[in-house]
Amino acid sequence: MATTREIKYRICPLCEATCGLELVVDGREVVAVRGDDADVFSQGFICPKGAAITQLDQDPDRLREPLVRRNGSLLPVSWDDAFAEVESRLMPIVARHGADAVAVYLGNPNVHNLSLMLYGQALLRTLRSKNVYSASTVDQIPKQLAAGLMFGTFTSVAVPDIERCDFLLMLGANPLDSNGSLWTVPNFPARLRALQQRGGRCVVVDPRRSRTAAVADQHLFIVPGTDAYLLMGIVHTLFDEDLVALDRLTTHTNGVEEVAASAKAFSPAAVAPVCGIPADTIRQLARDLARARRAAVYGRIGTCTQAFGTMASWLVDVCNVLTGNLDREGGVLFPLAPGFAANTHGEPGVGRGVRTGRRYSRVRGVPEVMGEFPCACLAEEIETPGEGQVRALITIAGNPVLSTPNGVRLARAFQSLECMISLDIYLNETTRHADVILPGLSPLEENHYDPVFTQFAYRNAARFSRPVFAPPTNRPQEWQTLLRLTAIVAGQGAGADIGALDDFIATTQVQNAVSNPRSPVHGREPGEILAALAPRRGPERLVDLALRTGPYGDGFGVRRDRLSLAQLEEHPHGVDLGPLQPRIPESLRTPSGKIELAPPTILADVERLRAGLVTSQRNGSLVLVGRRHLRTNNSWMHNLPLLARGRNVCTLQVHPDDAARIGLADGAVARVAARVGSVEVPVEVTEAIMPGVVSLPHGFGHDQPGTRLSIAAVRPGVNSNLLADELALDPVSGNAILNGIPVHVEPARPH
Ligand code: SF4
Repeated sequence: MATTREIKYRICPLCEATCGLELVVDGREVVAVRGDDADVFSQGFICPKGAAITQLDQDPDRLREPLVRRNGSLLPVSWDDAFAEVESRLMPIVARHGADAVAVYLGNPNVHNLSLMLYGQALLRTLRSKNVYSASTVDQIPKQLAAGLMFGTFTSVAVPDIERCDFLLMLGANPLDSNGSLWTVPNFPARLRALQQRGGRCVVVDPRRSRTAAVADQHLFIVPGTDAYLLMGIVHTLFDEDLVALDRLTTHTNGVEEVAASAKAFSPAAVAPVCGIPADTIRQLARDLARARRAAVYGRIGTCTQAFGTMASWLVDVCNVLTGNLDREGGVLFPLAPGFAANTHGEPGVGRGVRTGRRYSRVRGVPEVMGEFPCACLAEEIETPGEGQVRALITIAGNPVLSTPNGVRLARAFQSLECMISLDIYLNETTRHADVILPGLSPLEENHYDPVFTQFAYRNAARFSRPVFAPPTNRPQEWQTLLRLTAIVAGQGAGADIGALDDFIATTQVQNAVSNPRSPVHGREPGEILAALAPRRGPERLVDLALRTGPYGDGFGVRRDRLSLAQLEEHPHGVDLGPLQPRIPESLRTPSGKIELAPPTILADVERLRAGLVTSQRNGSLVLVGRRHLRTNNSWMHNLPLLARGRNVCTLQVHPDDAARIGLADGAVARVAARVGSVEVPVEVTEAIMPGVVSLPHGFGHDQPGTRLSIAAVRPGVNSNLLADELALDPVSGNAILNGIPVHVEPARPH
């Protein structure tokens, strides 16, 4: 019998590692998935989530038609009816109360989806609501803020050059399970092994002995939420022992003296009782960093989701700068992304920098950062009457009921909305409150390019994937759905010509390019560039424009044999653009043209840190931290059988000493209570957790009525965000405090 089997290649869109996948397909079926050995970036690596992508494609619970609420029930309708419903529900609210009455929440999958990434902005710009929220404020915004203040753009995040590094210090990061975050580094385990085999060392600082900590050369337990103290102790030692050596960065850095003054009060002896790491160990870390030939400090989610998230994120790079390891091969370097990177736009080496606090939230008065307010403020903005009250909500690929603090309060607030629209592929704990749900396609029916993760990559590369399966003709792609919503909020109506809207977006971007003196197409006719982009439409037209006007681009004929989307399409395994290179001063976009090592916004928070030297000492109560597992991805992949099987990972990890003191046995059920709520969860007694700390993974709690997640509901787990306090924020960035939550733990009474 003749076979119709074909091999297709696809960048995995499920996490930041962006592995190249090789799929064997037969008609509309995926027969096998494996890592693409020839992929220039990931060289064949694949994790269990990537292998499960076919189950996501085939998941019978995944929505394939829009749903509209009628008489309290969500019922399938035609796309035309769904868009008409959006218009009839949403626009009267805008007309009566203004655009700020409509909030938008963007979930984490937005950055993994080309359509959502490029066209979500069109919707936000057209709506012009100040009420924008996203998963960034339960995740990485402290790091982006620190990077923006120091280097001039929110995506100027320097990443470890792991292939040439000799000493890697990681705080609050578990790349063996997360596969890297704000650091796109597929096959981290092999790269770490290679570092160790060439004589390098890796030290992990974490309140848990994570899988990464277990394979590191040294693991240090740290009291949750105190990374800034440890890092200040290291900075203090660098100055105290005359180990500061900026080398090449000396002439490119402002503020070294201010940093030295700020660190004065934080001697290792002073911070040791707070962070739980002995003073001698802190001094030794500083010496190891300073004396290593090439060293990198990397901090991730544990350092962001805490009371001093911005401070800790800033100090990570202060350590890298003071030891001369920032912008050094083998240290931390700024990737040179092929397109979309703000630190490749405009005049090299100087820019406007970043601004925050251009507006303040209505109820709590919290400043905007990166154009958004903390998602922990969303419930109060819905609940609190008055001018500017949020009355409608658009969620895009997000499940804030499970992923943001005090999900019970947020869910209750959603019930009071006059209108809620969700773009989502699942009927989940958030979208069950929606009036209209507009589903996207399977990831295998979409093309793919990573506009964001190429900016955090361990190596420069460009890759583009065509859809594995042709998109269905009777359903809009997500960029088309977003354009339809954009047309509605623009007042053009649900029946507007979205092709014309797409042309308008492309034309605007071409005009920006030709009027930019730094662009290779400066001064050329927009019509000529648009003609060269034809017949591409939608996201791929914008990708082609970004690539061709980017640092490796062909400049539309100016630079021969350089990058274009057509060239990428001829290279299904991607185009390698080489190892990371030093980029300072060219990569800087600060007004001074220098690294701002002592941003006033962050220094103003040092006094709060200093006050904690006295008040933060441990009082014997338990604190909660989160954790990540390889088979989970926030809240949205628990419905795939391949990932849901195996042992239950939604357990409360408790140290044996604490378990004995409280009277908890392994497998028993504990009641965990915090200020905002309580949960009951099975106990896992383990020495992998620090005494005084308990840990619960996030993203679970699939036991709500009215959802359609049949696999996830079998073993729903508990929602850790029922314990997270929506009033507890890092005041600099607005990020929620999810690590170091004070909790009371006791045996659950039998029901
Ligand atoms: S590591 Fe991430 S990108 Fe790679 S296969 Fe797994 S989920 Fe996909």
